[in-house]
Amino acid sequence: MYMFSKSLEERCNRILRDMEGSLTARDRVGIQDFVLLDAYTSESAVLDNLRKRFNENLIYTYIGTLLVSVNPYKELGIYTKKQMDIYMGVNFFELPPHIYALADNVYRTMLTETNNHFILISGESGAGKTEASKKILQFYAVSCPSTKLLDNVRDRLLLSNPVLEAFGNAKTLKNDNSSRFGKYMDIQFDHMGGAVGGHILSYLLEKSRVVHQNHGERSFHIFYQLVEGGEEDLLRWLGLERNCQRYSYLVQGECAKVSSVNDKSDWKTVRKALSVIEFSESNIESLFAIIASVLHLGNVTFVADSQGYATLNNSPEIHWLSKLLGIPAQVIQVGLTHRKIEARSEEVLSPFTVDQAVYAKDALAKAIYGRTFTWLVNELNESLADWYCVFSVNSFEQFCINYCNEKLQQLFIQLTLKSEQEEYEMEGIEWESVPYFNNKIICDLVEEKFKGIISVLDEECLRPGEATDMTFLEKLEEKMGGHAHFVTHKLADQKTRKTLERGDFRLLHYAGEVTYSVVGFLDKNNDLLYRNIKEVMRQSKNAIVKHCFPSTEPDSKKRPETVATQFKSSLVGLTEILMSKEPWYVRCMKPNEGKQPGLFDDVLVRHQVKYLGLMEHLRVRRAGFAYRRRYEIFLQRYKPLCPDTWPNWKGTAAEGVECLVKHLGYKPDEYKMGRTKIFIRHPRTLFATEDAFEPI
Ligand code: ATP
Ligand code: MG
Repeated sequence: MYMFSKSLEERCNRILRDMEGSLTARDRVGIQDFVLLDAYTSESAVLDNLRKRFNENLIYTYIGTLLVSVNPYKELGIYTKKQMDIYMGVNFFELPPHIYALADNVYRTMLTETNNHFILISGESGAGKTEASKKILQFYAVSCPSTKLLDNVRDRLLLSNPVLEAFGNAKTLKNDNSSRFGKYMDIQFDHMGGAVGGHILSYLLEKSRVVHQNHGERSFHIFYQLVEGGEEDLLRWLGLERNCQRYSYLVQGECAKVSSVNDKSDWKTVRKALSVIEFSESNIESLFAIIASVLHLGNVTFVADSQGYATLNNSPEIHWLSKLLGIPAQVIQVGLTHRKIEARSEEVLSPFTVDQAVYAKDALAKAIYGRTFTWLVNELNESLADWYCVFSVNSFEQFCINYCNEKLQQLFIQLTLKSEQEEYEMEGIEWESVPYFNNKIICDLVEEKFKGIISVLDEECLRPGEATDMTFLEKLEEKMGGHAHFVTHKLADQKTRKTLERGDFRLLHYAGEVTYSVVGFLDKNNDLLYRNIKEVMRQSKNAIVKHCFPSTEPDSKKRPETVATQFKSSLVGLTEILMSKEPWYVRCMKPNEGKQPGLFDDVLVRHQVKYLGLMEHLRVRRAGFAYRRRYEIFLQRYKPLCPDTWPNWKGTAAEGVECLVKHLGYKPDEYKMGRTKIFIRHPRTLFATEDAFEPI
């Protein structure tokens, strides 16, 4: 038995031992780092370990420095200030796995190595990405040194979340608070470790949700918050009734009320956050005027005149739109029922049919909301990385998101292998590379110039009037026929054909097969908004609308970039940002499809283990040296195990470690001494060392 002084070491070990220390306990609660167990190389073993831990409410597990998290769907009481204190400044492996440990480790590595880092949080919808990013932010808010100036940054950082969620999240079948946009959040720290600024990039808001929701889903939270929680005066000023059922854009999913969401109190939070973030009162007014306008726009109906053209009665909606947007009613009326076309250098107004008018109205609602969201993000410009989402019918948005996931997977492989290899090189240690599936072939299929799916789509979008979703599909069949990762009804063999509709194409993503319906691809990629309706918006007296529809915007004479191409460029930008930083990963998983606590669905989790790349990561980590530690840290932890190094070693840390491992009986092939670190090949070696400690 070894005696410890009342040190950090003792505290850590006590906790570690309490949680997972003894062998019997280990059998029950599983192992906290997959890398540390010899047997844990198969998917089933990984699954077993996750299940064991989940059943003991241990939702976090490591693979080296990668954090795996399984959504508990219940409050565990592990995010208290006390917990934060325990994890602050403590070495990664010395406490049970926690998101705070990761956050703390990233922060301290950044400060000691003075380089840039990123934390990539991935997982499917409802797995807990947004929650994880919030926990990290909260940890930084408490742990970073604070001054008056920094407090301000910190508050804004934290408060930007409820605002972003109100405007960018919605209830879906998978998640009552699903993020419907991709988010990259950047926090800048000064050399003292204080947060001095932040930046948010947002990608591809699912605008179509504003005008259409699938059954059981809602539009963005903010609409319901305003209607349910808005003060009487405000609603009167906006011409709104306190009844979501009145608004056609809010009721298509037939579930305006969600039991787990309190729109009223969320409204108060958002309202307060906007003020604290220092949005001006006039901006806040303009913002709500826009939200209300979208609701009014949704209620506008058209009737056909005798010639079949769309007309608008002088409806109350137009009156409110005119008031809230500051545009004459007549101008709005004409704008919604006509488009401007150019005929021999003359401009003529051509009337819409009712269908066309409805289309233009929806397009306008989407554009107003989408642009306002972008404006909002720019205004907030604070805050991390978070990618999501599954749509009930896989369409264009899902295609873009999965393309993004492919790119992130590629980055993951490159960076993980790269950093591993570089570390061995730097430390002068030999290394054999590990084979892995390179998903570049799928990235190319989607993005390659002139050949990829996006190129074909853009080409079709250049043939208005002639091209349709189906001609797009035919072009794909022509160009992609025979590609191992692409199949359609026509190209498929008999057996596969039965599982495909005529308007579908199927991609074999690294994570598995996904079938997409081509319906709406052209339209969504074009994101067409007629020029004259833009001109109408330009006349608005609402400051935000004016900003969102600038007069300098290239008009339809110059083709704007398509949505897919814009998305592709933003991903290239994101990849460039990330390549220059050190990666950290949080892999979020959902234990069941029913949002239920305590239920662990093996099939569902196994699938996620696969496509989150956990096995690959584990293999990479195990192929070389499972465990590596700076000499100082290794010595500090294990010196009580050797009389020569305890309590104080006089020589260099490396010499101390050498002496220590000799005493422990490490065989020469079990470990390597690098320049600054010790590398241990097999987890069992380290395990035995851990076990040499006896409970105190
Ligand atoms: P999406 O891709 O749809 O945005 P997401 O991965 O961001 O999904 P979250 O919104 O973070 O998912 O999580 C869904 C819900 O799961 C949360 O609202 C919360 O109820 C629960 N949850 C997630 N993480 C935790 C946690 N660590 N502890 C307790 N509950 C959690
Ligand atoms: Mg989310």
